[in-house]
Amino acid sequence: MIFHQGFLFDKMDEIKAELKKSNSIVITTHKSPDGDAIGSSLALYHFLKKEGKDVTVVVPDAFPDFLNWMDGCDKIVYYDTQTKLANEIIGKSEVIFSLDYNSLTRISDLRNPIEKSNATKIVIDHHQDPKDFANHYFVDTNSCSTCQLIYEFIEKLEGLDKIDKAIGECIYCGIMTDTGSFRYPSTTSKTHQIIAHLIDLGVENSKIHQAVYDNSSEHRLRLLGYALTKKMVVLSEHKAAYISLSEEELKRFSFKIGDVEGLVNYALSINGIKFAALIIEKEDMISLSLRSKGDFYVNKIANNHFNGGGHIYAAGGMLETSLEEAIIRLETVMKTNI
Ligand code: 5GP
Ligand code: MN
Repeated sequence: MIFHQGFLFDKMDEIKAELKKSNSIVITTHKSPDGDAIGSSLALYHFLKKEGKDVTVVVPDAFPDFLNWMDGCDKIVYYDTQTKLANEIIGKSEVIFSLDYNSLTRISDLRNPIEKSNATKIVIDHHQDPKDFANHYFVDTNSCSTCQLIYEFIEKLEGLDKIDKAIGECIYCGIMTDTGSFRYPSTTSKTHQIIAHLIDLGVENSKIHQAVYDNSSEHRLRLLGYALTKKMVVLSEHKAAYISLSEEELKRFSFKIGDVEGLVNYALSINGIKFAALIIEKEDMISLSLRSKGDFYVNKIANNHFNGGGHIYAAGGMLETSLEEAIIRLETVMKTNI
């Protein structure tokens, strides 16, 4: 597909007709799901349930505890631990939604049943350069979040009156987390209008903020302190900074999924730094989170050097090397690209 940036609101009438005639619907999202992934999936889940559909959310793997307050999260099926059940549900589905991802490489082994399925596939997403794996695309690469697109998708289906507090909380959460609490450049007046509508529906903004951001374990805070004092390397002359954490270090601080969420932003917040990275040693690979600001874009860096991709200011990737080798590669990229 030759499409990089902008809107791609494909054949809304066909999507409407498809949804009208279908009953079994599966909603999927990317691996290591974040607030936007879980928020958009559960918002669409509740909306389609209200439309009388048989809906299941299937995710590749677990999400952080700070998202487990969202209504419906206990009904989510995990592909890594509930593979048989998920395969059965996907096998019977008539429509499969792909939310917050632009390529099947983003969903690990969940790609197998999706590739096999003859269901109608609909992508709702805000990442650049969507790959050609679906029948319909509701994509806006300028949108701050997939949750904003879910609101606009429901609007196009003339279903805004079906948005209630539970759906609103899910949408609010994804917009809040993907905009860095409404501060990134992707936050527009439309974003604030949507948020205003959600608050009018009873969504308690400060309650959601607290549930997501004021919910750390003591271990998480100690890890943050350790990472910032002992593990952050600042390459001032290259306007770059990074933090690396080994598996052993993570274990030492009783690491749980979500504990390093937001850590890379501290490195980016240093005065004069344009490019920041977090390198984490996982069981079977090295994962990288990349962030930037101003005129420096990390999506290309992720794509060219770290087998990944993402947005211009927030991207990620992975390497199948030792942590030491990954650090050397990252430093080389930081020293030669800025
Ligand atoms: P994070 O650093 O929060 O894990 O990811 C930031 C963004 O980078 C995500 O929203 C996603 O768009 C992108 N991203 C992260 N990891 C990968 C990856 O392995 N491949 C691709 N294509 N994008 C990634
Ligand atoms: Mn997103």
